[in-house]
Amino acid sequence: MKRRSFLKGTLTTSVTVATVNTGLLTSSKVLAEPNNKTTATSDNKDTTIGKLNLAILGSGFAALTAVRQTRKNFPDADITVIAPQAKMVYLPSLIWIPSGLREASDLEINLTDFFDEENINFIAASVENVTHSGRTVVTDKGSFNNDGLIIATGGRFINKLPGLEHVITPCKGIAAAEQIKQRLESMTGGTIAVGFSGNPKDPAAVRGGPMFEFLFGIDTLLRRQDRRDKFKLVFFVPSKTPGKKLGEKVPKALLELMAEKGIETHLGHKIVKFEKNKVITKGGEIIADLILFMPGRTGPAWLDNSELVQSEGGLIKANKFCQVEGLKATYVAGDSGNFPGPKWQAKQAHSADLQATAAANNLLQELEGESQFETFKHEIVCIVDTLSHGIYVKRTAEKQTLRSPSRLMHFAKRGFETVYLRHYR
Ligand SMILES: Cc1cc2nc3c(=O)[nH]c(=O)nc-3n(C[C@H](O)[C@H](O)[C@H](O)COP(=O)(O)OP(=O)(O)OC[C@H]3O[C@@H](n4cnc5c(N)ncnc54)[C@H](O)[C@@H]3O)c2cc1C
Repeated sequence: MKRRSFLKGTLTTSVTVATVNTGLLTSSKVLAEPNNKTTATSDNKDTTIGKLNLAILGSGFAALTAVRQTRKNFPDADITVIAPQAKMVYLPSLIWIPSGLREASDLEINLTDFFDEENINFIAASVENVTHSGRTVVTDKGSFNNDGLIIATGGRFINKLPGLEHVITPCKGIAAAEQIKQRLESMTGGTIAVGFSGNPKDPAAVRGGPMFEFLFGIDTLLRRQDRRDKFKLVFFVPSKTPGKKLGEKVPKALLELMAEKGIETHLGHKIVKFEKNKVITKGGEIIADLILFMPGRTGPAWLDNSELVQSEGGLIKANKFCQVEGLKATYVAGDSGNFPGPKWQAKQAHSADLQATAAANNLLQELEGESQFETFKHEIVCIVDTLSHGIYVKRTAEKQTLRSPSRLMHFAKRGFETVYLRHYR
């Protein structure tokens, strides 16, 4: 990929900040289409002529990979990151908070130094909308214009099932994982039910992997504490073949492992609602002292206000180049997006990284008026951890790999976290 070291004469102008703290789009007239010769004008004094102004939304996996790749591609551009806080949460290691293997401070990464190194203009704000065909980002701290945009604000959970207040959704973040730890510490026995469901309109928008990990992790923890016999563990999902997305052989392997560990299952029944200490499905009820449940996923909350095209499942609709449907110089990566591809594609940090790289490279192509757009590879690579062992899984269009649980893979997952976070620490 060619690096962009200077602006081509035909590229537009940029306007760094449109309106701050007014909440009004007063400077919407500054908008300019990339790749034309318009010179934008603005009432705002921060206007910078002749320099590209790129914006990246979010500070998670996709956003940070987009930052690195965008800076590589556009060494001279003004790059603005907009996210609520200059920090990243390394979500895959939340599974180790209940056992104490990780603490909040291990997983919350302050990004101030990273942003300084990459010469990023960071704006602490929450995106509320993207308007003017992608050229304006509306936030709770004002509106910001751009010449090119990468959206990476993640997704959210579908909150439709009644009684979700009675469950802990571990993937909501550090506080939820800590709550599980506290509950486990306070329990002397009882039933723990662990389950997940999907988005009926988007097979990719499901997060099951971590729920297997919480389930197996709790089993291992209770065994280590010599009190597993005081607990009943029940796994519940509407599907009869949980984990099938990871590969054809995966459901059998995971269910056999559950049987081996004395974990009961309640499979193939639609979840109707939750009550205090109760999971109610179309196939019966599970009485439980603690319920961990991951609802299906959908697009970011701000999308509801937006003119951006949504997929059937409520995510930002993109093409295979990660371009937001119908918009110029506007890309999406990670959990926010819906991408064409196989039914088994997953919402994973790994996919988020691949999409973010493609998005940043394609933004370069587009702003330079080139057309060598790249796609990203559809593949799932993960290690399903049990706190003592790891099960390596890989799926591509050509091949499906499933390895037996091994100690080595548990340590590989821990090592990967260290290596990955080196970029940002
Ligand atoms: C417990 C757990 C275990 C996991 N294990 C794995 C694993 O082993 N391997 C794997 O590949 N994946 C794993 N995943 C999935 C992976 O973490 C996600 O797919 C990945 O985080 C998606 O990256 P993202 O950048 O799209 O979204 P996120 O990482 O969720 O980042 C979204 C960013 O957007 C910001 N944001 C949100 N709303 C706004 C707004 N309105 N305005 C501005 N910014 C906003 C957030 O603050 C955040 O910085 C796991 C997830 C969980 C929860």
